Amino acid sequence: MTSAAAGGGVDGIPRDGLPQIAMAGRSNVGKSTLINALCRRKVARTSAAPGKTRLANVYRTVMTGGGPGQWTLYLVDLPGYGYARGGADAATELRAVAEAYFRVSGAAALLLVDSRHPGLESDIQASRWLSAMNVTYRVVATKVDKLSRRERAQNLGALEMSLGMPPVPVSAERGEGLDELWKTIASLVRTGHA
Ligand code: GDP
Repeated sequence: MTSAAAGGGVDGIPRDGLPQIAMAGRSNVGKSTLINALCRRKVARTSAAPGKTRLANVYRTVMTGGGPGQWTLYLVDLPGYGYARGGADAATELRAVAEAYFRVSGAAALLLVDSRHPGLESDIQASRWLSAMNVTYRVVATKVDKLSRRERAQNLGALEMSLGMPPVPVSAERGEGLDELWKTIASLVRTGHA
């Protein structure tokens, strides 16, 4: 694991041509837990306090699902938005890190949103921001284990309405939806978007 420097710097971002998938989302949305689950071992530090991770952490992982053979890609844990401590300056700095990262890497993104809270303005803004940077992204709805069947159908529908695409529902805690998410990642890579 390597860390990209904060403050708009892009040191430490791999430039070896391997595909990169960046995870974006509000602090506490479940990014670290999902990266751990996807890698099936504990590589990502789960943050104790919201907004703690200020660096873009890069995880190199070998993928075996979603297609034939094995291939290597980078999963990149971007700084969480939504609860930036230190006010507007900190938020601007986090954004600068992410923008610098996408400029250099040409990565695709997964926009993680909490399945319990559809329609959050900060998530809608993040989707607009990714589009404005021409980043190809998919929406992932986290923590679906916390929803009843009825809430799940309602909330996934509401997320699709507000974000313009159907989310991939996952529960990192129960392992639900991870195969589907790997397929989504594989398709982003195969189509040259990552
Ligand atoms: P991050 O700040 O986005 O990296 O979020 P974390 O991965 O640290 O998760 C934030 C909190 O949500 C932690 O208490 C996790 O245990 C919890 N969490 C993460 N994923 C899931 C999930 O799939 N189901 C449930 N029930 N809780 C989850």
